[in-house]
Parts: sequence; structure tokens; C-alpha cells
Amino acid sequence: MVMADPSRTLMTDGLGRRISYLRISVTDRCDLRCRYCMSERMQFLPKNQVLTLEEIALLADLFIARGIDKIRLTGGEPLVRRDIGDLVRRIGRHLGQGLKELTLTTNGTRLTEHAPMLADAGVRRINVSLDSLNADRFAHVTRGGKLDQVLAGLDAARAAGLAVKINMVALKGVNEDEILPMLRWCDGQGFDLTLIETMPLGETGEDRTDHYLPLTQVAERIDADHALTPIADRTGGPARYHAVDGLGVRLGLITPLTRNFCADCNRIRMTCEGKIFMCLGHEDHVDFKAALRDGGLDAVQPLIDRALRLKPAAHDFRIGTGERAATQRHMSVTGG
Ligand code: SAM
Ligand code: SF4
Repeated sequence: MVMADPSRTLMTDGLGRRISYLRISVTDRCDLRCRYCMSERMQFLPKNQVLTLEEIALLADLFIARGIDKIRLTGGEPLVRRDIGDLVRRIGRHLGQGLKELTLTTNGTRLTEHAPMLADAGVRRINVSLDSLNADRFAHVTRGGKLDQVLAGLDAARAAGLAVKINMVALKGVNEDEILPMLRWCDGQGFDLTLIETMPLGETGEDRTDHYLPLTQVAERIDADHALTPIADRTGGPARYHAVDGLGVRLGLITPLTRNFCADCNRIRMTCEGKIFMCLGHEDHVDFKAALRDGGLDAVQPLIDRALRLKPAAHDFRIGTGERAATQRHMSVTGG
């Protein structure tokens, strides 16, 4: 395990933002093909370009030694990576010793199998993506996903004692009529709900402008039935939370397009190829894989400082301007 060096522990970017949250995409592969995320015939990386689980664990050790105290595993679908349990347990050993929280974002298809392992490794909260409670619509949005599998996974998560937050991408003309029912369903299930605006990341073979739904509009509609009151809770991510009158559920809104969240961004992202992206909306990155494979962890240390200097003031997302995707990278590469 890499020991913390107090003189270099904290990571602060050029604008004085303290970087404490690392998202790791453990694979770019996925068993679904959500229309807003991937194209139907998505080309995945050859396996030798992807970091091994051991390499990911070593880099996680290094980041924790430099002051990262929250890690989220994501993808692609993190639970399709073979032996993912080994990595979760390995990173979980840092909990209480530098690492405050280890979480995961998943599509839920394999939670039945993995929920007990996650809980054993110290994971307490997970985000599960679910854009519709209608089986046909779910199959349409995910291009073939089975709703029952995800619902069974959610039951397994609850049985394992994991707190669940549902992530729902708000899509005009697709699931906008389900937002209020989803909120009430989450309330009944004891889950929180976060709504996400569709972001222009990577070509998907579909026009996102057609389905872009500003969450300002959605919030107004919900507010008419259940008054929304902003609350100060933060979970370290970009969501802004609201209490929902009459319901126990916390409603998060992720609004990269209608309300920029960059000023207090504390996050960096590592792709499954070992590229460190300082912003979801920029192409600038530092490649750790070659340094790690050629020179070991000592060669990676200086690259962290180079990465910190690259963090931009803000993302550059626009939608509906006739431009192609703001970045050619898919969300599944950098991790949601
Ligand atoms: N496969 C896992 C899942 O679906 O939860 C983890 C990876 S996925 C890329 C993480 C999150 O990003 C999901 O909640 C998904 O809905 C969201 N997402 C993917 N593409 C997006 C896009 N273009 N705009 C907004 N959210 C997106
Ligand atoms: Fe897979 Fe998640 Fe992307 Fe859907 S959003 S295709 S589940 S990576």
C-alpha cells in the first residue's frame, strides 16, 4: 500500500479547488446500449489497452495517499468486469484509513449476484440507473434491457443493506410522463431519486436535441404537485438536492446545461485505460498507463501535479446548437 506523504497529501487545482473525489471507470464495456449513452454497435477497447485490476488498485492507492477520500466505481457497467469483487474489496480496505466512502454506479442488471459482495467490502450507497418502470419502454431506451432483472437487483441491494439512489435521465417524449410516478415509486421503495439532463458526450446514432428536457421545466411541474425546497445536503457529486413536500424521498437534479455546477467541482476521473480527465466536458487529459507500465508508481507521481494544472474553470457543453457531440468521448469511457 502507498503511504500518504503529508507534504504532498492534498490535491488542489490551479483555481484553488480541493480535489477529493475520484471516479474510476473500470471498463468501457456494458451489457446494455442506452440510446443516450452508446451507439448500437459500440466498438469497445481491446483488452490489452485496459488497465488490469491490479493497476487500477495501485493507482487508487496512490490517489488516496494524495488526499482522495471518496471513490466511485463506474463504467461502462462496472459489474460486468470479471473479478470486480477483488477490486472492490482491495479498495475497500482503505475505508476508515484515508478513504471515507466507496460507492458504485450500476445499471443494476447484475446486482442480484453482487450486492452482498459490495456490502461486505464496505460499500454503503449505490446509484442505480433506471429510466423507466415500463418494461417495453425500458427495453426500448436500453436497446434490449430486461426491467425485471434490474428490479430483482434492487431488491437484492435492499436486502444487503445498501442505500439506493435511482439515476433517471430525463428524456423529452420518452419518459417525461414517468418522472412524477418514478418519484412516488422511489418514495415507496425508500430510494432517493436524481434526475439528469442528457449531456452531449460521444456519438450515439441518435439526435439528443430531440430528447433534451431542461430540468428547470421538470422541477416546475413537480413543484406544482409537491413543493420542492432546496436542501443543503451534498453527496460530493454535482447533484443539488431538494426535499419533496409530502414524500420522504430526496430529489437530486444534475443540470450541466441549465445550471452549471463547475465552480465547486471537486472531481477527477480515470478511464479504464488510465487516462486522467480533469473535466467530463474537455478532452485534456494525462495518460498514467504508459508511465505506470514503464516506470512504476514513481513515474506517475509527477503526472498528478500535471493533471491538476489541467483542470479547466468550467465544462463547455451546449445542446441544440446544431453542433455534434461536445466531446467525442462517450460517458461510458470517462464514467458517469
Ligand atoms: N452503466 C452504469 C449505469 O448506467 O449506471 C454506469 C455508467 S453510466 C455511463 C453512468 C450514468 O451516466 C448513468 O446514470 C447514465 O444514465 C448516465 N449517462 C450516460 N450517458 C449520458 C448522457 N449522454 N447524458 C447524461 N447522462 C448520461
Ligand atoms: Fe451501459 Fe450505463 Fe451507458 Fe446504459 S448508461 S449503456 S447501462 S454504460
